[in-house]
Amino acid sequence: MIEQRGYEKDASRRLFQHAKKFIPGGVTANIKHFAPYPIFMKKGYGSKLIDVDGVEYIDYSLCYGALMTGHGHPRIKEATLKQLDDSGTVIFGTPHELEVKMAEKLIALYPSMDQVRFTNSGTEAVLLAIRLAVAYTNKPKIGKFEGHYHGGLNQLLVSINPTQRDAGRPDQPEAVFESDGIVQSERENTIVLPFNDLEATEKLLRKHQDELAAVILEPVQGGFIPAEPQFIHGLRDLTNELGIVLIFDEVKTGFRVALGGAQSVYDVDPDITTLGKVLGGGFPIGAVGGHEEIMMQSAATAKSDVFSVGSDSHKTKNIVFHSGTYNGHPLVLAAGLETIRLLEDENELKSTFEKTMLLRKELEKLYETYHIKMQTIGMGSIFNLVFTDQTIRHYRDMWQADTSFRQAIDIELLKLGIYLKPLNRYSTSTAHTVEDIEKTVSLHERAIHRVLQQ
Ligand code: PMP
Repeated sequence: MIEQRGYEKDASRRLFQHAKKFIPGGVTANIKHFAPYPIFMKKGYGSKLIDVDGVEYIDYSLCYGALMTGHGHPRIKEATLKQLDDSGTVIFGTPHELEVKMAEKLIALYPSMDQVRFTNSGTEAVLLAIRLAVAYTNKPKIGKFEGHYHGGLNQLLVSINPTQRDAGRPDQPEAVFESDGIVQSERENTIVLPFNDLEATEKLLRKHQDELAAVILEPVQGGFIPAEPQFIHGLRDLTNELGIVLIFDEVKTGFRVALGGAQSVYDVDPDITTLGKVLGGGFPIGAVGGHEEIMMQSAATAKSDVFSVGSDSHKTKNIVFHSGTYNGHPLVLAAGLETIRLLEDENELKSTFEKTMLLRKELEKLYETYHIKMQTIGMGSIFNLVFTDQTIRHYRDMWQADTSFRQAIDIELLKLGIYLKPLNRYSTSTAHTVEDIEKTVSLHERAIHRVLQQ
């Protein structure tokens, strides 16, 4: 049972009870909930969050990784306010120069992209990416890897957190649907693949090559289980050979494992990339980039629009619908461009990665002193704590980890002033200091003491 001590003071508890009357489950996204109730936040600055009781936390959630420069960076605030002044009506609903600037910037940082479209979320970016792939190949199915998350699309809400009971064979995972309300026809077009198992993946891809439009993956699963280089290079070769579009979903990893995403770390060019989170500088965004031939399918958004792309219309035989009232929102792009400018300062990312590695090493040392089997895994500014000494190569390896111990530690950390949704991964930012790291390690030590006494 989760101990309630430390929660009694809570205005959060009262707010949560109240919220539940008006909002299903009291939260506006299922992921925001944790037991006994989520903490309601009021303010954020730098690496810190302050809750409705005035309690301060070092934030390692950072809005599920979206804030690479911490909360309320003065330069991002300034750029956004300036844009607000310039825009007047906030959103034009017309093309504007910032869209071009951001597209050019992304193409420079992600050489696999020739062209870019913007959306309002990672989910919408994935929606466009798979629609482009299906149109381009004229095949119906999408391959996705077990344990990988790609947003809330019906077709991809499959085998994200399957249990040992329903996951099926490791080399031929079952498609486990995570939500009701998804009709059978949508369940038939997804093939679940085993991550970091090239041999088994190859068998499945060859078997389904005539119906597979695309394979989508998080190059670093959940942001913390890296693809093995020989797996990801092998997957690139295979998808090329079989005429399957390769989509890297870099919504989490873009700008967080390297400015140019995981693809720059592995030196692999996907056909399509999806981005989000960090790209919006704290505001909602998504982006899809890829080869011109694939992207150009969205140039004419309706059959009747085909003439409006003028001389470009010969470049595509397909017409892929893509729209969105708020796409390319000027405030979001102003915040996003300033975020990228900040991260382009070489020292910013480098020192964030160094501090992250320092935190990982110090935590590993600490747990070792207490003879607790714990390893950290991750890349760049994202990592996770896994309580097992078994090697973690894919989703199923996580079943070996001691999650009740981890949960107990995380609850104690929340009481002590570390903010992270229990069992979630850690994200760091340029705002996290060496003092934050030292404090985090010492609070872990106190959490260990408390849990061992329970
Ligand atoms: N893809 C990945 C890899 C993600 O991590 C997420 C969000 N966690 C999404 C897609 C969906 O993005 P959004 O929540 O902005 O719709």
